[in-house]
Amino acid sequence: MSPRSSLAIRVLGPYGGAAPGYRMTTFLVDGKTALDAGALTEALPIAAQRRIRCIVLTHAHFDHIASLPFLIENLYGRGRPLDLVAPAPVLAALSRHVLNDVTWPDFRRLPSPRRPTVRLRPIAENRSFRAGSVTFTPIAVDHVVPAYGYIIAKRGRAVVFSGDTGPTRRLWAAASRIRNLRAIFLELSFSDAQAEVARASRHMTPRLIAEEISKTPPRVPIYLYHMKPPSLARIRREVEALGEPRLRLLDSERSFRF
Ligand SMILES: [Zn+2]
Ligand SMILES: [Zn+2]
Repeated sequence: MSPRSSLAIRVLGPYGGAAPGYRMTTFLVDGKTALDAGALTEALPIAAQRRIRCIVLTHAHFDHIASLPFLIENLYGRGRPLDLVAPAPVLAALSRHVLNDVTWPDFRRLPSPRRPTVRLRPIAENRSFRAGSVTFTPIAVDHVVPAYGYIIAKRGRAVVFSGDTGPTRRLWAAASRIRNLRAIFLELSFSDAQAEVARASRHMTPRLIAEEISKTPPRVPIYLYHMKPPSLARIRREVEALGEPRLRLLDSERSFRF
């Protein structure tokens, strides 16, 4: 399979919190598009940052946008604006709480309104958005704020990203209609000992994952990400105890070609 026709996914940050060696949620798709922006400026040298054209966002929680202000600053003066792509409720939160001239300058008007550093590009739920030769289809999931999973597809191959979510349905209904699904990237944030926190914050634990698997298309590998670093050791033991061969915990700096 040539690199051109395959779908390349590079894991820059698989965690749902920060500590040295634990980068927050960030994936690079085909080199030029990021899915979430928890750790772009930590993970990529400036030259690679400046090649990013578009960031697709699952939602506006900090662990998914933490590097965005600094990335935007590093792209200042580049000829083409950076596109931030997500359904409207996610972009509204960025507009109100980040690019508001209080917590960070409004780079939609800098260096000038005609030559902005960043543009917000709202997309519709359940409709495909094309970035290069890859399509992203947002599907609403179940989190404490508006949040979306994505079906990412290229040349007839697809993977599913859950985004942050507790037990959910629409995403699996959409996944069941995909002919050539190669992988599922599914969030897992807390250990079963923190089931109450997980329920209140709409996240997964290993026990919830064990139930969620039955809703997913069979036999597709499931890569777990978004672990909270303080819970990681316990999560690892609990996932191993499930004895489910489809499940793997994601590590940083893993690259896939589908
Ligand atoms: Zn998160
Ligand atoms: Zn979240």
